[in-house]
Amino acid sequence: MHNVTRRNFLKATVAGASAVRALCEASPARRPNIIVILADDLGYSDVGFQGCLDTPTPNVDRLVREGVRFSNGFVSHPYCSPTRAGLMTGRYQQRFGHENNPRYDPKDEVAGLPVDQVTMPQVLAAAGYATGIVGKWHLGAAPKFHPLKRGFKEQFGFIGGGHDYFKATPDYRREYLIPLERDGKPVVENEYLTDAFSREAAAFIRRHRKEPFFLYLAFTAPHTAAEAMLQVSDRYLERVAGIEDEKRRKFAAMVNALDEGVGQVLSALETTGLDSNTLVFFLSDNGGEMKVSAGTNRPLRGQKGEVYEGGIRVPFAARWCGRVPAGKVFADPVISLDIFPTAAALAGARLPAGLKLDGVDLMPYLAGRQSSAPHDRLFWRTGGGAAFAVREGRYKLVRIGEQTELYDLETDIGETKDISASHPEIVKKLDETREQWNRELKAPLFENPRPAAKKNP
Ligand code: CA
Repeated sequence: MHNVTRRNFLKATVAGASAVRALCEASPARRPNIIVILADDLGYSDVGFQGCLDTPTPNVDRLVREGVRFSNGFVSHPYCSPTRAGLMTGRYQQRFGHENNPRYDPKDEVAGLPVDQVTMPQVLAAAGYATGIVGKWHLGAAPKFHPLKRGFKEQFGFIGGGHDYFKATPDYRREYLIPLERDGKPVVENEYLTDAFSREAAAFIRRHRKEPFFLYLAFTAPHTAAEAMLQVSDRYLERVAGIEDEKRRKFAAMVNALDEGVGQVLSALETTGLDSNTLVFFLSDNGGEMKVSAGTNRPLRGQKGEVYEGGIRVPFAARWCGRVPAGKVFADPVISLDIFPTAAALAGARLPAGLKLDGVDLMPYLAGRQSSAPHDRLFWRTGGGAAFAVREGRYKLVRIGEQTELYDLETDIGETKDISASHPEIVKKLDETREQWNRELKAPLFENPRPAAKKNP
């Protein structure tokens, strides 16, 4: 903390809101708030700041304009639950066997984020932060996996992998129709799901404006489990009425609803005077899906589920007024695993002895105190070893089954030219690092639930 001890700050809090405001305006005197806004299945080019032309995303674009855009921003997995396990732990999730989506079964004590793993909200709560999750959990349905048992003090949302946008019946047997919960208790909710999450996120910010907080806002938008579930209310559809293709029109409207939610978060920060004391991350949990849904990853190759760029490179940005340079593009690769160590460092949190994080604190890089790249290399593995990717500098090795490919992402972002035959020495080196990393990992603890035909996991 800058010149203000925590005790003095608490005294000031008690002394009244005006004193707090004075402290905040003078400098980020108290530890900053951290907000992570996670979209679900939002493709690389589904937002304006990534070049999308058909979907209005003015609020997300503003967030990026006022912050840093990570042009090489990655998630640690090409689909939902494993990415979230990595985000919550700051570790490659295959290190602890979380490599698949858990099936929705409250009696399944295995399929979930292993409870011996330390989570970001646990560490931040121990450091005195108010911690809240709004939205989708998808890290296990058994009671022991519940977010309130994993570091969050407050919860609004649901524990499955997706949800109907209009109904919570409640039907406990069907994942997408389970009741929404507030702090673990079922609640009736009548608003469109994305709007409900936006409302709750803004309320959380206002409620905790006088203390450092961590808010994890995990939208379901624009994820859809089946084409019939591209659900959106008319007011968003009207804004994208010009899009001819019906599927894309609905998808774009769902993204627009998400964007409006981001606007509510930014507006809550503004009106509470917390703009200059809050670091906001925005990213998607994986790339866009193009079969059941209508995401776009242009100019990237592939989609959700794949280790090609379309599965793992996502819209990714960070904004902290006055502390992170506005309008900057950060081109060195970063990964969702970096968010935990960044947040922990800002909170002055003490990490448990022996905890080895794969992510790094990004602040020294964003503030220009470090000029090297945050990571020497990044890794991906799916299906217990069915597919791998390794990124080192400009090169990316892709290994699917026994087939090995090499791409130069600097000249070929679309992974169109396999250059493995002409660069055998690079292939050999990257494959060796892949094997070395792979030896540190566990076999998957649980398998993906059997997908129904034409369903989006
Ligand atoms: Ca997803």
